Amino acid sequence: MIAIRTQEEIGKLRASAAILTAAFEAVRAILDVGVSTAMLDKVAEKTILEQGGIPAFKGYNGFPATICASVNQQVVHGIPGDRELRAGEIISIDIGVKYQGYYSDAAMTYPVGAISPDVRDLLDTTAAALHKGIQKCRAGNRLSDISHAVQTKAEKNGYSVVRDLVGHGIGTALHEPPQIPNYGAPGQGPTLREGMVFAIEPMVNMGGHEIVFLEDGWTVESEDGSLSAHFEHTVVVTGGKPEILTIAIENHRD
Ligand code: MG
Repeated sequence: MIAIRTQEEIGKLRASAAILTAAFEAVRAILDVGVSTAMLDKVAEKTILEQGGIPAFKGYNGFPATICASVNQQVVHGIPGDRELRAGEIISIDIGVKYQGYYSDAAMTYPVGAISPDVRDLLDTTAAALHKGIQKCRAGNRLSDISHAVQTKAEKNGYSVVRDLVGHGIGTALHEPPQIPNYGAPGQGPTLREGMVFAIEPMVNMGGHEIVFLEDGWTVESEDGSLSAHFEHTVVVTGGKPEILTIAIENHRD
């Protein structure tokens, strides 16, 4: 069953997403060459707690931090630590917030200093693929219309979408039904209805789609070592234009 949220619940999801946005702004403000991923984690946690939220990832199945910080060939679920960012790298930041029982979840891949045009294209394409998927979040469409739109955009530019990890429903739990793959034929799966809330999150590799899990039990990398980007929004299905609850994190995209 996919939950249908009331207007009151969507109000709480908006409030959760506002705290999440503040956390992204705090991270973006200090993200630079020489900054450790642990420092990014620290400012995100401080911001969320100050605003009355709860870091949703910390303690989730034992994950030790507020943010996932995944550098270069790391796809998702990187654990923050002492490693300092270097010019020309990319870093995917994924953050989740719980507020008054309601969850929001978003991710963005940032350049560190100047990046090459081909890396810039990977980032832009992944963000564009996410938005192609979001555009399908309208009542009456089918779930896999989202998947197909994401895949089509990513592959058109010569990249691969990760297949072993998926987006998800979100609301009173961080991960709810349905699973939302980033690939597949259109016109399949449940019919979308107003009030469904999804976290859509393409992970796009410059090389092949295969991934490997590191021995830390969390970090996921591209198997071929190619760069990987990850963009995610929490989105409400409506009868018309979808409501992207976390859109404001893009005000600080670069
Ligand atoms: Mg997610």
